[in-house]
Amino acid sequence: MALINEHFLKLRKSCLFADITKRINAFKATHPKANLISLGTGDVTQPLAPAVIEAMHKAVEDMATKDTFHGYGPSQGYLWLREAIVKNDYLPRGIHLDPNEVFINDGAKSDTGNIGDLVRWDNSMAVTDPIFPAYIDSNVLNGRAGIFENGRWSNVTYIPCNERNAFVPKIPDHRVDMIYLCYPNNPTGMVLSKEELRQWVNYAIHNDSIIFYDAAYEAYIQQPDIPHSIYEIRGARKVAIELRSFSKTAGFTGIRCGYTVIPKGLTATTMTGERMELAPFWHHRQAAKSNGTSYISQRAAEAIYTPEGKEQIRQTIGYYMENARIIRQELTQLGLTVYGGENAPYLWVKTPADTPSWKFFEQMLYGAQVVCTPGVSFGLAGEGFIRLTSFSDRDTCQEAIRRIKVWLCT
Ligand SMILES: *Cc1c(COP(=O)(O)O)cnc(C)c1O
Repeated sequence: MALINEHFLKLRKSCLFADITKRINAFKATHPKANLISLGTGDVTQPLAPAVIEAMHKAVEDMATKDTFHGYGPSQGYLWLREAIVKNDYLPRGIHLDPNEVFINDGAKSDTGNIGDLVRWDNSMAVTDPIFPAYIDSNVLNGRAGIFENGRWSNVTYIPCNERNAFVPKIPDHRVDMIYLCYPNNPTGMVLSKEELRQWVNYAIHNDSIIFYDAAYEAYIQQPDIPHSIYEIRGARKVAIELRSFSKTAGFTGIRCGYTVIPKGLTATTMTGERMELAPFWHHRQAAKSNGTSYISQRAAEAIYTPEGKEQIRQTIGYYMENARIIRQELTQLGLTVYGGENAPYLWVKTPADTPSWKFFEQMLYGAQVVCTPGVSFGLAGEGFIRLTSFSDRDTCQEAIRRIKVWLCT
């Protein structure tokens, strides 16, 4: 008799996103003619950059002839892409990486989920609250998160990010082995300054912890002094793994390509206290369990580093950020308190009069026929907030705002 991984049973009970679909379906059943607008999902809407399309066509042609055909690629990803990343994403910020410290993948979700394989299942972990749920779910499946009680996992340290601390996570008063940070943040849309991030790096150095730094939204940063990479902070190479993705930077959610940086010198210890580098283990792990992402996807990613590619993705990000500016400005004028949306495509909106997130979600669904994401579905500290995304067409975004205005003003 094969025994199931019972951690799956625990996971099922905590899945709040299924609730959103359920409530939308209930609304549709009673309002079959309604035309819903969603500012809820975190998926992009604008087409790929022309430079990317061109590179993909060419890559398809490569596959058509024997001399330029590509089969299995190197498990770490093609060197030309890793070199382009090092040269364009890091060097201009004064960060010197070796292409061998960069691991190409099929997007950040896989690696945020899998990276925990590097360390023992019983390491302690901390997350910010609210948080992107994938970080926790992967730790539930290997038993690290413990059991789910009263909306929280028993073995997880939650670091609340709320109005009182201006959404800056406070350094824990005890040591933890693993810390997940995501900046610019999904869902709050907020960022950390260099000084704030430095405190986390220093904490990790002092406590011999590892930071898993998700920088999927770094391309959305507008203010000049905000760090794009954790390696802008001195000492971070020894304690931080950085996860990045082309999904939000260049609309690759359907193409699939991202990368993870594991610097040389980043170590953890064995039970007997022997210090070992993690990068070679990640290499083994990927070789054993993954074939990475396709040649065509990697050529597509390479194209965003050409002068045309850079300019084209800059324009699309600008388009989304203009949506964010419009949403922020209009909702603020309506008297709502709005956070984020200045260095990230997310807006974190406080519900009026302390209305619970789910109640406001339903009020807006029925009143304005606009879908948002309830803040509490990202963690208990998200209660009393909703998340809006700026990833829609301009027209859709403006129509949603118009409906919200009519709804709130009548
Ligand atoms: C969208 C997103 C990613 C990117 O995920 P992919 O698997 O690369 O598409 C990573 N982290 C966060 C927090 C995200 O919201």
